[in-house]
Amino acid sequence: MNYELTMKPRILILYTGGTIGMIEDAATKSLRPFDFNHLIDNVPKIKMLDYFIEHIQFDPPIDSSDMKPSNWADIASQIEKHYNEFDGFVVLHGTDTMAYTASALSFMLRNLDKPVIITGSQLPIGEVRTDGEENLITALQIAAAVDPVDNGPMIREVAILFENYLWRGNRATKKSADNFNAFKSYNYPPLAQIGLGINYNHDVLRRPDFHRPLEVFTAMDTSVMFIDLFPGISDSSLRHQLATPGIKAIVLRTYGAGNAPTTQWFYDAIRAAVDRGKIIVNVTQCVAGGVHTKRYYSGNRLLEAGAISGADITSEAAITKLMHLLARSCDTDTVAREMTIPICGEMSSQSAVRHP
Ligand code: ASP
Repeated sequence: MNYELTMKPRILILYTGGTIGMIEDAATKSLRPFDFNHLIDNVPKIKMLDYFIEHIQFDPPIDSSDMKPSNWADIASQIEKHYNEFDGFVVLHGTDTMAYTASALSFMLRNLDKPVIITGSQLPIGEVRTDGEENLITALQIAAAVDPVDNGPMIREVAILFENYLWRGNRATKKSADNFNAFKSYNYPPLAQIGLGINYNHDVLRRPDFHRPLEVFTAMDTSVMFIDLFPGISDSSLRHQLATPGIKAIVLRTYGAGNAPTTQWFYDAIRAAVDRGKIIVNVTQCVAGGVHTKRYYSGNRLLEAGAISGADITSEAAITKLMHLLARSCDTDTVAREMTIPICGEMSSQSAVRHP
């Protein structure tokens, strides 16, 4: 790494791919990734920020639909390797799986006390109306921002910057395939609002224990899956999914406040899976609010059948948290218990889940 001693903010950009770095293929007219050096060429304003900036890029850059846990491990390892050399990190990433990457990194980077700002864009950076230029520059400014209270970094967590908002990464979800404001966190306020200035919501920023060193856990156990409920789901299809070979844990995406069919076959199928040692986490299909298993008989039955409540966690955070916990412990009870406890701000504590 070409590191020089400087008083300027020191930012490392990790370019993974995504629309932000894409260019139209003249022959096929479809978008394909291009070299990072073009990205800088397309944003000459970066030079106006008086920062020391280095970059590392995926070779080749990837569409985030191809993102895998091993890629998350690469990103986390690069941050660990260069942690002391830089004040902040900007990850350029496709929007499609950005919320999964943000959640995964938040679990991998324990005791993080520097900014990891993930951003991308809806339009390629080379296009006239691109949102990529503004997102990249704002992400760099946030990664360099200092908290006047203690002169430490303003942001000390993994966050997603997109258009007008900075969101806690493990609370955010992609909400639009078209709008520039493509992300939102429905159960946690924005960390900052971006308008004429960058206005931080100090009360909701994460403040870790600074005395604890960064610990990086890159292992992920992918023996997990989603099961989505829908009216008409059959006994055989549910049992088939619950019996998927090699699966240890399931995020069951339920209705409303964590409700599911009350029929006996449904209860029996869930109970049987739990008795076989499967961890079943109840997460709502709703984008806002969370699971309140005691509110309705149908939710309570699920609890009785052995499913655990995911409270107000997002699906993205739930599945990546399971991958992380399963990789750290093979004890089902430990994983199930830790799923109900917030690790790094990804969920409200069960008692604090807001009842709308
Ligand atoms: N398919 C692209 C990706 O996620 C979309 C984007 O970047 O917005 O990599």
